[in-house]
Amino acid sequence: MSDIKIEDIPFKSEVMPAVLDPNAEIKFKCHKGISCWNACCKQADITLTPYDILRLKQATGKDSSGVLKDHTVPFTMDADGVPGIKLRTTDEGTCLFMDEETGCTIYENRPTACRYYPLGNLSLKKADQAHENQHFVLVKEDHCKGHEEDRGINIQDYRAEQKVEDYDQHNIEYFQLILKKKSMGPGVGKPPEMSLQLFFMAAYDQDRFRRFVLSDAFKNNYTLDDKTYDDIANDDVACLYFGYRLLRQVLFNEKTIAEVDGALEKRAEERKEVIEMRRKLEIEKSKSNDPYLSYKLEVEEEKKRDDKEK
Ligand code: SF4
Ligand code: SF4
Repeated sequence: MSDIKIEDIPFKSEVMPAVLDPNAEIKFKCHKGISCWNACCKQADITLTPYDILRLKQATGKDSSGVLKDHTVPFTMDADGVPGIKLRTTDEGTCLFMDEETGCTIYENRPTACRYYPLGNLSLKKADQAHENQHFVLVKEDHCKGHEEDRGINIQDYRAEQKVEDYDQHNIEYFQLILKKKSMGPGVGKPPEMSLQLFFMAAYDQDRFRRFVLSDAFKNNYTLDDKTYDDIANDDVACLYFGYRLLRQVLFNEKTIAEVDGALEKRAEERKEVIEMRRKLEIEKSKSNDPYLSYKLEVEEEKKRDDKEK
């Protein structure tokens, strides 16, 4: 447990709380009528996982792009710019899903961190096998009076009560990916911008990622069987898991998706051509007064690339 740090705790805490095992008993109860009803949701700082986005899609009936636009804000998780997302709040910090009277308006689909509160699940942040190596912390914030209620409950029973199992199961792959990226350390260097954009799309903007995988551009580079295509087209969870596979291939060179013969070389060649095109463009621009020159040259180069594709 010694490798657990205070920044791993998902809620604000001045001191490192004791690390608890799954059989530990906590004293806590939240219910409508408690004096602090909604206080936690009025200072919501909720980091979302990709599976949370799937559930927010179900809750709102929006696609992933709509959920991201209306209900989240982006942030960077580390110095390499790996993207994360949080629940959007009002300027005062109130969650947009909170209703004074009823509380959480998306209760059945509320995010992982909301379900666990006031527990922090460090298993997902520290271990490859969350179910074999579970550890938690109990965070006591002043505004939360649930700790003063007279109910003892075992952590496993609390997890069952809050229905976190599905969430944990589908979050493991995501946390493994982040852990692997972290464990590679700064020596490996920052992933290229294109890989970070792919990370954002595959992890969070899943419907856009699905369209990308079903496009000709993807098929020109990777070979998938019909069943995999079918699953990606029709099943959100399958699409998410395929995204994790592709990210592992792109970020860590863990090859599980067949590449079209010669696709890698073709992509490298195309990249070289783009660099050369930009270089020529800069030279031509410096010599010419034609304001449309860049545009004309780009159209010309694009046409050349299209002709080659045919
Ligand atoms: S999603 Fe629900 S439980 Fe979570 S902060 Fe918002 S209102 Fe509260
Ligand atoms: S008891 Fe804690 S979790 Fe429940 S409403 Fe109050 S602040 Fe929120």
